[in-house]
Amino acid sequence: MKRVFPLLLALLTACGNPSSPEHPSTYVSTLVGTQSDYSFSTGNTYPAIAVPWGMNFWTPVTAQREDDGWAYQYEKKTISGFKQTHQPSPWIGDYGAFSIMPYTGALNGGKPVSWFSHKSEEARPYYYSVYLADYDVKVEITPTERAAVLRFTYPENSHSGMTVNPLEGGFVAFEGNTATGYSVFNRGGVPEGFRNYFVIEADVPMGETFATRRGQVVTLRVASSFISPEQALLNLKEVEGRSFDEVCAAAQQRWDDVLGRIRVQGGTDDELRTFYSCLYRSTLFPRKLYEIGEDGKPVHYSPYNGKVEPGYMYGDTGFWDTFRALFPLLNLVYPEVNAEIQAGLANIARENDFLPEWSSPGHRDCMVGNNSASVVADAALQGITSREDLEVLYKAIVHGTENVHPTVGSSGRKGHEYYNTLGYIPYNVGIRENVARTLEYAYDDWCIARLAQLLGRPQEEIDLYQKRSGNWRNVFDKESRLMRGRNADGTFQEPFSPYKWGDAFTEGNAWHYTWSVFHDVPGLREAMGGDASFTEMLDSVFIVPPIYDDSYYGVRIHEITEMQVANMGNYAHGNQPAQHMLYLYDWTSEPWKGQQHIRETMERLYSATPDGYCGDEDNGQTSAWYIFSALGFYPVCPASGEYAVGTPLFPHAEVTMPGGKTLTITAEGAGPVYNDIRLNGKRLDARFVDIQALKEGAKLEFRK
Ligand code: CA
Repeated sequence: MKRVFPLLLALLTACGNPSSPEHPSTYVSTLVGTQSDYSFSTGNTYPAIAVPWGMNFWTPVTAQREDDGWAYQYEKKTISGFKQTHQPSPWIGDYGAFSIMPYTGALNGGKPVSWFSHKSEEARPYYYSVYLADYDVKVEITPTERAAVLRFTYPENSHSGMTVNPLEGGFVAFEGNTATGYSVFNRGGVPEGFRNYFVIEADVPMGETFATRRGQVVTLRVASSFISPEQALLNLKEVEGRSFDEVCAAAQQRWDDVLGRIRVQGGTDDELRTFYSCLYRSTLFPRKLYEIGEDGKPVHYSPYNGKVEPGYMYGDTGFWDTFRALFPLLNLVYPEVNAEIQAGLANIARENDFLPEWSSPGHRDCMVGNNSASVVADAALQGITSREDLEVLYKAIVHGTENVHPTVGSSGRKGHEYYNTLGYIPYNVGIRENVARTLEYAYDDWCIARLAQLLGRPQEEIDLYQKRSGNWRNVFDKESRLMRGRNADGTFQEPFSPYKWGDAFTEGNAWHYTWSVFHDVPGLREAMGGDASFTEMLDSVFIVPPIYDDSYYGVRIHEITEMQVANMGNYAHGNQPAQHMLYLYDWTSEPWKGQQHIRETMERLYSATPDGYCGDEDNGQTSAWYIFSALGFYPVCPASGEYAVGTPLFPHAEVTMPGGKTLTITAEGAGPVYNDIRLNGKRLDARFVDIQALKEGAKLEFRK
């Protein structure tokens, strides 16, 4: 008994329960998508050690430099540090980062680096551990929202130590067992004077070597603040007086609570791993930028005006990606989080003239569209935003339709002068990706019209945006039945290749972008010539070979390669513009074709392995597609109040609504084709379900 008891205790206190439906966090692998590089993305993720929407994430670093966008790559063999990171994507880069690395022996002026193996690595959202073979040191990390506890288990050595790297331009000072400093590292999106102040408290002297016994555990408590060193100390209270195991158990509990809002049954363990790994990615971004002040109230350093301001603030998301499914998922399952995000957006509108389209942490120049309108409208129409905030947000959105940010071309509307007069951005006036912009502005204008209606704005204002929402027609070419660049004189671009990526479009071609009429699919269907013609065009996307013209970029961008290798013709699920397209079969007489493609995409292009995505995951968007699809519906048109139905992956699923009501989804047999779909027992006569009905605790049944 004496021997058994400590072993049992160890099993119970180790942070990490065996995989079971009671602990959905145990199905998550944070390594999904890490087998990526510049030329080919299977997610372009890193193993983020974090709590949901946490202000700070941690990641092991396999790159030689901590500022490398590809900090962790699955195929690498060595680790050179453990980094506090805020990076949303390798294409955007990191900010405010610093790193810590334990070692033993003499460094001789070099940087510590050690071999490791995935066999000696455990990668959970709430717990990461790895064995550094060259130093015989085990590293463990567990997170809170703004702090973390790190645990290093050293061997016997007279020269044990750790490095603290504040990155280029940063500063660190050591005093006794404490290190304090700041990181100024960034790639834009911050004002002058930006700093991430950090504090590290250890139970050994910092900044020097120390002797360790075999198995000696050194614990570090780390916190940081974008506001001040004093606030960093306040944030340190998140872990003060708490053991590693206590913090870890609380982090796991938080993940179980968040992931457990959706329970799926009847799938294989692999399907459960894929589902919950996708849900983990869907609940990381946008991340909190606010902190809790001494008075217990939210406060934030504003990347928009450089001041410390009251209230909420979130960042690190690109709306071009995430307006599609990630924000609708928050509105369905986590509206209390999106309520804070919307309050944060209203604060942004108070702190500067523009809403961001890509924030990291402030305005970044990346992608096209003005999709903040969709993000605001979908939340507002679902009753998530306060009236006071909505008035402020509406004003900023309207401002964005007539202006472009003076230094960051992605915020506001580039080409608004043409769009608001001609009804489209011409192909030949020197504004790149003009058709993509026109299509997204038209949808965004539809969202604004809905918002204007909600706010009771004058009828002529509602009518103006409603009229502009039809502007997609101005770039639709009846001859090719595709969207096509249009010159200022009204003629269409010549020559025209539907296989040409970029140019009039953004990271896609005419086959991908033609479907970006989220708000008027019947209108697009009629413009194409009706049901048969529309279906034929949808079918064609999969039938045409995966040929491409990359002359606009001068190089085959990774998204093109990802389309080719998927073997689905010209369907490019690895990038965002086409991800809703499969659901457009719901507007045809052959919706079963969509169900087949949706199921194939779920089963073949997603897994819980390091190459588990089919392109950039992009801050929860590609994951949210999977979550919705596995549940059996998808938000083709955010702000419409409706989902288009598809084909559920699991025989049984339950979604707990914040009010406590339960949405139950059942599927008869394996599918993928279901012809009889019932909401609360009543057969649907069209393939759309009302979101409000689902939120009220509905029963959605899929029958053969
Ligand atoms: Ca992308």
